[in-house]
Amino acid sequence: MNYRILRIIFIVTMVVLIWAKYENYVSFWHFLIPVLVLMPFLVLGAIFIQLNFYVKSVNTVAMFPYKTGIDESKKNICLTFDDGIHSINSPRALNILKQKNIKAHFFIIGKNIAGHEDILRRMHDEGHSIGNHSFNHGWNFDLQSTTAMQQEIENTNKLIEANIGVKPTIFRPPYGVTNPNLARAIQNTQMLSMGWNLRSLDTVAKSREELLHKLKSNTKPNSVVLLHERCDITVDVLTEYIDYCLLEGYTFVTLKTPDEV
Ligand SMILES: [Zn+2]
Repeated sequence: MNYRILRIIFIVTMVVLIWAKYENYVSFWHFLIPVLVLMPFLVLGAIFIQLNFYVKSVNTVAMFPYKTGIDESKKNICLTFDDGIHSINSPRALNILKQKNIKAHFFIIGKNIAGHEDILRRMHDEGHSIGNHSFNHGWNFDLQSTTAMQQEIENTNKLIEANIGVKPTIFRPPYGVTNPNLARAIQNTQMLSMGWNLRSLDTVAKSREELLHKLKSNTKPNSVVLLHERCDITVDVLTEYIDYCLLEGYTFVTLKTPDEV
């Protein structure tokens, strides 16, 4: 079930109800039923990117549309870092990834690039995928018009391309929230939406043990892991988490679109 199909069902139901009301088969109260049924779908579809309700997102490694460099017979997982660039923690995370020879995704907020251009270039030069995570990442991102969202995506793309020579093709919706306006903005900018299926909740983790337990116990083949390197605790546990995954036989992969290969 997605937004397009549900909208068609809703419109057809309303047309039938209008006819039924005209024939005096129902009262006005009956019009509330489809509205009440629709509401939870609209809300849950906006909150949970994994439902692919408004936007079809890549939420697992198995859903990667391009399989370049991926051996599907292996236990693959994908690390993604949101909200960079952070002046201290982004280089810390990069150092660990370099030491372990692991490539990851960095979803960059456009306004964070100024003053950190060298770190952005390092991310790219060391083989990581640079994605778009809006320009402002404001609390009201999802309340904006399609045009405003599109502008944020395009401004961040331009800034990234000016620094690394490659235009991002993958977009991570801020907060993982989606809606019809964002769906149009993603379509108009021809971006590929990437979600996740392992939310580490590192931004609210109270201890290293809690975060590591959450990560380890939820890691499965095809996991796309959502992390934020701006959180000290995330970088603090990164080496141990990677070592755990390697010991468990996982292979770290990234989604490479044809423009990035
Ligand atoms: Zn974010």
